[in-house]
Amino acid sequence: MKIYISADIEGITGVTHWDDAVKPQPDYENFRKQMTLEVKAACDGANEAGANEIWIKDAHADGRNIDGSKLPENTKLIRGWSGHPLSMVQELNSSFDALMMIGFHSSAGSAGNPLSHTMSSSKIQYMKINDTFISEFHLFGFASMVMGVPVVLISGDEQICNDANSFMPGIITVNVKKGVGDSTINIQPDVAIDQIRDSAKQALSSDLSSYSTKVPDRFQLEIQYKHHKNAYKSSYYPGTVLVDPVTCSFQTDDYFELLRMVLFAI
Ligand SMILES: [Zn+2]
Repeated sequence: MKIYISADIEGITGVTHWDDAVKPQPDYENFRKQMTLEVKAACDGANEAGANEIWIKDAHADGRNIDGSKLPENTKLIRGWSGHPLSMVQELNSSFDALMMIGFHSSAGSAGNPLSHTMSSSKIQYMKINDTFISEFHLFGFASMVMGVPVVLISGDEQICNDANSFMPGIITVNVKKGVGDSTINIQPDVAIDQIRDSAKQALSSDLSSYSTKVPDRFQLEIQYKHHKNAYKSSYYPGTVLVDPVTCSFQTDDYFELLRMVLFAI
């Protein structure tokens, strides 16, 4: 069994403020350790379920947060950003049996996390696909499903877990925190690790063909920016329409083309 894990930090237990999530703030060191331990827990659960090979994308900020020396020996860690449109799931392809997402967070426009955003906290007001507000979970979940790779587990804040449940019934969720205004209510870090390990084992021990990989035939992407200058620039991407001064729209039946547009647009 070959498993892919995409990992972010804003949905790691305890993370509340950008100072918890970015170098060189002193509190960041604690939370990058917890991010490493939550990813390790997902690997340990996968290995208990029979994984042979696990690829991990460090998908937060500069992509250089996770300490690879703490991970099991059958892992490969992708650090930094290649510039490929698959971005947070770089190198994912149909040879993988399942995708798990660790430390994911609520979307732009959602109140589920003090750090809610989609791809860019400075530029993007919201992103929608087919009239539904989307998070990074949806954006790269669709990419995985298009390849026939089911998304079997997500850990993160309560809101993203609820969104994942309604988008993909049957997905296993590990809710490690709840956002309330500019605060978070967090489960204890060791408890988060235990729950992620047990849930990863459970998710991968079940029949992987029971997880849905059905995707729409056509994708309509809408991006609303915080500043009109960004919408103006994106409107020059081929096939993109300026809907109003801050909003662009792009349609395709080829999901990779949507990811290519997003690469240009953020
Ligand atoms: Zn992040």
